[in-house]
Order: sequence, then C-alpha cells, then structure tokens
Amino acid sequence: MSRLAFIGLGSNLDDPAHQVRTALDELKSLPDTTLTATSRLYRSDPVGPPGQPDYINAVALLHTGLEAEALLDALQALEAEHQRVRGERWGPRTLDLDILLYGNRVISTPRLTVPHSHLDQRSFVLYPLREIAPQLVLPDGRSIDALCARCPMGTLEPIGV
Ligand code: ATP
Ligand code: CA
Ligand code: CA
Repeated sequence: MSRLAFIGLGSNLDDPAHQVRTALDELKSLPDTTLTATSRLYRSDPVGPPGQPDYINAVALLHTGLEAEALLDALQALEAEHQRVRGERWGPRTLDLDILLYGNRVISTPRLTVPHSHLDQRSFVLYPLREIAPQLVLPDGRSIDALCARCPMGTLEPIGV
C-alpha cells in the first residue's frame, strides 16, 4: 500500500544548497517511491551548538510503498552517501533527512517517532510544509495553518528553487 510521506531536508556544510538539491533528486530514485512535490529552498538560522553556518532546508512529499522503518533505512543510506558524520547533537551536517509525517500514522519505536518530534516548533519545517500542503492536518487534528500561526517565521527566508 502506498502512503504519503513528508520528508524534511537540511544541510549546513559543503555547499548546503547543492546538498539539498542533489538529495531531492536522489529521493526520486528510492525503490517503490515517487517524488510528488518539493518546496522551495529556505535559509534558516542554526539550532544547537553555537557558531555553526546557516542551514538550507526544504520539504519533499513522497508517495512510497516502503514501510516507515524501510524508508528511514533508505534516508539514512542517502545521508551516508553525502558523507554525513555524526558528531555532537544537532551539530553541523552535510545532510539531514527526517520523516516528518508518514500517512496519518503515529509511530513511537526506539528508532522512529512520527510525526517528527519538534515539528510544531520549527519554522524551517512548518513553512516549507505549508507551501506544498496548505490543507495539511496532522494526525492529532491540528492544521498546518494553526501550527504556523503559533510559530513565527522569524528570520526564515525562501531563497528559491
Ligand atoms: P532532530 O531529530 O531533533 O531533528 P537530528 O535530525 O539531528 O535531530 P539525527 O542525529 O539525524 O537527529 O537522528 C537521530 C535518530 O533519530 C536517528 O538515528 C533515528 O533513529 C531517530 N529518529 C526518530 N524519529 C525519526 C524520524 N521521524 N525521522 C528521522 N529520524 C528519526
Ligand atoms: Ca533533524
Ligand atoms: Ca535526522
């Protein structure tokens, strides 16, 4: 059974815009998966340890037959292909791929929390998400409009496709 999955992309190392554009292209090659929509790229201030470069973020919508854990495996393989090195928590990275939503499912396993935790507090997730899914409603019934209304855009800015 095919499901809609929203993926959050982020990078702040080694030409972040290129990393994100390349990753968007690579999502098209995942098995049993179609890339249905992509947001513009956005620039955001770094969260986590101070002194990091700015981030480039985007959100993609997939139609996928992959189960959620298999999708996570595939996304982590793509991160590894981008030479992501796991260092300190929320430290700089070449590519971060998060499963934001997976159909209307609520998942809580040691490897996977869906909807993604902090989703409702992160402008760099919510605004690109709204761009491609303005009618979106989370499994708990909250609309994307309501979430954006409570999370100011701040310094987040779209930088184009
Ligand atoms: P954050 O989760 O706050 O955005 P992060 O993206 O920097 O932080 P990572 O180091 O990329 O965190 O991932 C840590 C672990 O999070 C992964 O190994 C994965 O098992 C787990 N994880 C839990 N839920 C998800 C999800 N929805 N999407 C991706 N990874 C997830
Ligand atoms: Ca993340
Ligand atoms: Ca992640």
